[in-house]
Amino acid sequence: MSAVLLDGKMLAARREEETLQRVNALKARGIEPGLAFILVGEDPASKVYVRSKNKACERCGIRSVTCHLPEDVTQEELERELKKLADDPSVHGMLLQLPIPRHLDEAAALACIPPEKDVDGFHPVNAGNLVNGIPGIRSCTPLGIMDLIALSGVKTEGKHAVVIGRSAIVGKPAALLLLEANCTVTICHSRTVDLAKYTREADILVSAVGKAGLITGDMVKPGAVVIDAGIARVDGKVVGDVDRQSVEPIAGFLSPVPGGCGPMTIAELMVNTLNIAEAKANV
Ligand code: NAP
Repeated sequence: MSAVLLDGKMLAARREEETLQRVNALKARGIEPGLAFILVGEDPASKVYVRSKNKACERCGIRSVTCHLPEDVTQEELERELKKLADDPSVHGMLLQLPIPRHLDEAAALACIPPEKDVDGFHPVNAGNLVNGIPGIRSCTPLGIMDLIALSGVKTEGKHAVVIGRSAIVGKPAALLLLEANCTVTICHSRTVDLAKYTREADILVSAVGKAGLITGDMVKPGAVVIDAGIARVDGKVVGDVDRQSVEPIAGFLSPVPGGCGPMTIAELMVNTLNIAEAKANV
């Protein structure tokens, strides 16, 4: 038996279609959801990401603005631009594309995005709401991970979920969402001793590391749901953390890279923007 592939592209298209319908309903009331991207410098990967998010906005009927600042922008100038967008009522969501150049203070820049416009869910207020189980804006990639698990049809309650990675943007919030979904959660990281001991016990395995081939078939419980959130490049090709050749015959479900978490992250970004606009309009 080969794992059922969890088609993030198909699911994202469905989510975007639902989003477009809700956006049109909001527009009929005279409100156009707006999302602002702040891009600093010329990092090719960041430019590609912003372009694909812009295209998703177009598909969903969301107005997008890109504020592209030069590589040598000062902290003061960056913060001025961020505050301008923060004060603009036509902008419902703001996203600072990371990473930003090293001379800039990332935390201080992110703090200029008000929590109610923080479509990425990175703001300490939104992160704190997640920890405390208070409704609020959740990070897009972890939301996409949960969507893919739901697509498998496997019930989360009582399952052992193992998350590899403990970053504030993927690993930790994904673990918290799984906990909220009544999984028993183990978080692994680079200092975990004997990673395979944990992964072999996972009914749901989420890998968010960025190391090609990290997860091999012998590390996976037969029938497990495996969500690959990692992104790495091998010979110019985008791959995930999972060694598909050895994992596909063992896992029950597998999200591919590309075509799994990537499109879902963008779809959830559109949903977050719309949710903010709807909340502001009291929908
Ligand atoms: P990150 O901040 O670099 O975190 C990577 C995590 O992996 C860290 O917690 C690190 O542990 C852990 N790690 C590293 N080597 C390991 C090993 N050998 N065994 C076990 N754990 C190990 O990265 P991130 O921002 O969370 O992103 C993770 C991956 O997801 C990246 O590939 C990124 O490109 C991808 N990503 C994808 C999307 C998407 O849209 N699909 C969105 C965001 C990120 P320590 O904490 O101990 O260092």
